[in-house]
Amino acid sequence: MSRFFETTLEQLKKAAKTMKLSPSVFTILEEPQRIVTAHIPVTMDNGTIQIFRGYRVQHNNARGPYKGGIRYHPDVNMEEVKALALLMTIKCAVVNLPLGGGKGGIEVDSHKLSQRELEALTRGYTRLMAPILGPKIDVPAPDVYTNAQIMAWIYDEYSKITGKDSPAVVTGKAVGKGGSLGRESATAQGGFYVLMEFIQKMKKNPKDMTVVIQGFGNAGSFIARMVHDAGFRLIAVSDSKGGLYCKGGIDPAIAYSCKRESHSVQNCEIAGIEYTKKGEGVCKRISNAELLELPCDILVLSALENQITASNAKNIRAHIILELANGPTDAEGDIILEKRGITVLPDILANAGGVTVSYFEWLQNLQKKQWTEKIVLAKLKKTMVEAFNEVYAMSRKYKIGLRQGALITALKRLEDTII
Ligand code: NAD
Repeated sequence: MSRFFETTLEQLKKAAKTMKLSPSVFTILEEPQRIVTAHIPVTMDNGTIQIFRGYRVQHNNARGPYKGGIRYHPDVNMEEVKALALLMTIKCAVVNLPLGGGKGGIEVDSHKLSQRELEALTRGYTRLMAPILGPKIDVPAPDVYTNAQIMAWIYDEYSKITGKDSPAVVTGKAVGKGGSLGRESATAQGGFYVLMEFIQKMKKNPKDMTVVIQGFGNAGSFIARMVHDAGFRLIAVSDSKGGLYCKGGIDPAIAYSCKRESHSVQNCEIAGIEYTKKGEGVCKRISNAELLELPCDILVLSALENQITASNAKNIRAHIILELANGPTDAEGDIILEKRGITVLPDILANAGGVTVSYFEWLQNLQKKQWTEKIVLAKLKKTMVEAFNEVYAMSRKYKIGLRQGALITALKRLEDTII
């Protein structure tokens, strides 16, 4: 049984105690408002029927409609979805969006499904969840192994069920289907703004700093390009199959094309691609565990939860951790990192760019408008920089880490709304 929900609550409890949160507000936040489990029948390509289990957890809507992604992964379970939904309530409050928190998931290895099976599964999930979804009720978005195409199927199925064109029922859609410009790279972009703001405060120069990235998917591959363009040296990347370390630096565009051709960033030799310019040293394959413990200035976590725990926190040699993934550091790991003076730019702040641009997409859909990318990025930067500075000030005020500072920022807002 996953302890993700419990450990998330433990961290929340600590923040509640520090800021003396009203006990009734904590009681309300302790349990999600609604949990729905669906058993989705799908006719497979071989004619058999397979049942998939899916969830939607609506944690809290005090500040606005439930908002949060849908994850397709074989390890999805209720505890995980509950924890992720709670984090969404907190995250939306950290960046001051008028939204609540929700999350969904389906227990499935989507790579084993054909495109037709994936569509049938998504439409089946939408049919079973439709009574609790809606532009003003609960608005899903992409998460691990879900994408714009999956969101388009949800939009289409929901619109058919309700008989109304409802683009605002999901975000993370392709631009041609009502998506926002800038949404695809928003999570990484928001994290990048937070990172740069922190680095400027520390008076550091990107050119003197190395970066390691765990998880080279949507969030990971975008942040790789951003840090590379800003002058940081990207020295290692990984995906679910393992990692690659190149002391001389990795060009993220090459890593991206290599992953597309050979299915893993590890397989460049197979694809016949070299990561580095000649003379910059050779690359070597490493495991994901080794990647986490590499000496570097910045470690970006953009894969899954519980990557840094009591068992490896003492070995982490990064000075700054940027959490683009949700819950990548567990509560025990977090305490060890704090004691060791490693700064964690926490998930509830660092990856909030995704939900922020989702919010912008939702607003554009409701207003039947399309903002330019320049407007989206300017609004995103303002939101992230303001949130970072509020969280930073809060952590200074209470002499606590940035995660606790972010939790207190969110709890204060939730308390003001709920009471
Ligand atoms: P994604 O599916 O595009 O990418 C996930 C990547 O992680 C893949 O490259 C996969 O190979 C890799 N991976 C899986 N298991 C791994 C492991 N054990 N070690 C190393 N790599 C591993 O997903 P994404 O959208 O980039 O999301 C990544 C994380 O960011 C998730 O925790 C997600 O909840 C979080 N997040 C994403 C968004 C978003 O807008 N995409 C927003 C907020 C938070």
